[in-house]
Amino acid sequence: MITAAEYVESLKRLKKRQIYLAGELVDDPVAHPIIRPSINAVALTYRLAEMEEHAPLMTATSALTGKRVNRFSHLHQDAHDLIMKVEMQRLLGQLTGSCFQRCVGWDALNALWSTTYEMDQAGGTAYHDRLKAYLAEWEERDWTVAGSMTDPKGNRRLSPSAQADPDLYLHLVERRPEGMVVRGAKAHQTGILNAHEIIVMPTMSLRAEDSNYAVSFALPADSAGLIYIYGRQSCDTRKLEPTRTDVGNINYGGQEALVIFNDVLVPWERVFMCGEWNFASTLVERFSGYHRQSYGGCKAGMGDVLIGAASALAVCHGLEKTSHIKDKLTEMIHLNETLFSCGIACSALGQTTKAGNYLIDQLLANVCKLNVTRFPYEIARLAQDIAGGLLVTLPSDQDFQSPLMGPLLEKYLAGEDAVKTGERQQLLRLVEAMTLGTVAACYLTESMHGAGSPQAQRIMIQRLANLSGKESLARRLAGIDPDGLVYT
Ligand code: SF4
Ligand code: FE
Repeated sequence: MITAAEYVESLKRLKKRQIYLAGELVDDPVAHPIIRPSINAVALTYRLAEMEEHAPLMTATSALTGKRVNRFSHLHQDAHDLIMKVEMQRLLGQLTGSCFQRCVGWDALNALWSTTYEMDQAGGTAYHDRLKAYLAEWEERDWTVAGSMTDPKGNRRLSPSAQADPDLYLHLVERRPEGMVVRGAKAHQTGILNAHEIIVMPTMSLRAEDSNYAVSFALPADSAGLIYIYGRQSCDTRKLEPTRTDVGNINYGGQEALVIFNDVLVPWERVFMCGEWNFASTLVERFSGYHRQSYGGCKAGMGDVLIGAASALAVCHGLEKTSHIKDKLTEMIHLNETLFSCGIACSALGQTTKAGNYLIDQLLANVCKLNVTRFPYEIARLAQDIAGGLLVTLPSDQDFQSPLMGPLLEKYLAGEDAVKTGERQQLLRLVEAMTLGTVAACYLTESMHGAGSPQAQRIMIQRLANLSGKESLARRLAGIDPDGLVYT
């Protein structure tokens, strides 16, 4: 395993990449003030693994080699591993208050592990052994691997091959002796600039005519032909201001970018699917299921931070003993623990795959994520309620620092006697960042659309709920079905 400092150094050693942010080519992404907080969040996944008290959660015994590895490269072996995953994600959510980005490639690995095994059994291919060799290197080098699924999709009514522009879904362009050439783009790519490697997957189930779109592969993040365009977050330019206070979350943040694959060559030993359109749905559903489980951890951790900020603000206002405030905080806790419970439940009731790793319970993972599309919004609403209107009218930190305005703000924005005005200012900025600013991208909108928009979960829930089984239960008790007399 590498240390957090070695991780940051390793990013500096990547080849020069085409990264665009606000219309400009980024020369040094590691030092860029808008990008750096997202690197800090990934670095914490390395730092905690170095610490004795967190090592049991942050590391695991490799199923391949028996060596100790960072948990973010581990093949889940049983329900306990899946539960540890969610607990680790909650811890990291608590400590970063943002997305720490390292889960997507890991979820892709576990989904590909079972899917490639089943593909090889069905078609006599050799994808699983390639993935095994890739994982051995991943574990050894302690990579951060980004997972790329979402295509831009163009006209949503049309299938990939029916689009006016065939590149609106990433696809195979050419087979060469040394590898396959791909073209297209992936949108909303979490942490992709902070990754050493990228694993690409198809975005949805496919039909035979879309077989060129059934591609999965891994490649170094500094491969030739990749173009990165950085996604904006609300209030992101506050990170360029002279003081950090108005950013709210002063050290950490998430990251998303649009990545364009401009005729990129992928060597065959890094290809895990090429044309097997009938396995695209298996891969997509398993990956989505793992990532929907993940949200029961990371979003609950972020929720802990927001609940803590709201509670501390209640103290600033001298309202911590007021019954309606206590009630609101209790409601926030109830919603947050429900998310966590769903993450634990889908882990506890999973099953072993044919390839030997462990899969979440799909129905409960989808219920988990559907709750995540709603509850953080309600938690955020209650946090804003407790915070008060100053959340959006607070003067800038430059005014707090000014010799002229600073003393006036100290005097007129004072709260409860024992609490410093500056503490209240910083807590308000944190709530603002999590509900309206940079990290609201991770806590709110990503909760809605990350790992699939709510409709995708509804479709899976409808499919997996066994409604006809529930109908027979009702028929039996109502006396319609004669089997009802069996249990007397
Ligand atoms: Fe991990 Fe959550 Fe970020 Fe997904 S949204 S990468 S699960 S922290
Ligand atoms: Fe995500």
